Amino acid sequence: MEDLKNMHHWSVLAVSCIDGRFVRRINDWIAEQQGNIFDYRTEVGCSKAIIDSVEDRERLFGVIEVAIRLHSIKEIWLIDHIDCGAYGGSKEHDDVESEESFHKQKLDEAAGIIGDKFPELSVTKIYAGWDTIEEV
Ligand SMILES: [Zn+2]
Repeated sequence: MEDLKNMHHWSVLAVSCIDGRFVRRINDWIAEQQGNIFDYRTEVGCSKAIIDSVEDRERLFGVIEVAIRLHSIKEIWLIDHIDCGAYGGSKEHDDVESEESFHKQKLDEAAGIIGDKFPELSVTKIYAGWDTIEEV
């Protein structure tokens, strides 16, 4: 186990949707990829909060600034998921492929917004399906 009391710096702030069906799986997946220590933030719809809500975006920017200042994070991981109610759910899409490509576009757009504000951070885009979690 890491010496948590003396750890103050790590690389990743992950941002996912609030959807409780996915949070545990996404956390476990990030821990596998990244090691156990990362910052974690939930926003309604993840990419949607960043793209469509000025309030959510500004609040998230504040969290990112804190994560940079206190933890020296270098990466933002944005995680959208299948059947996201914030976007109307899977019923808004013809099939799972078109739903995933919709989220890829939204993640690109959200990553662009984060990148414009924080050019020093790398942004990784991730999509969680029912059985898979993958970088996209
Ligand atoms: Zn969602």
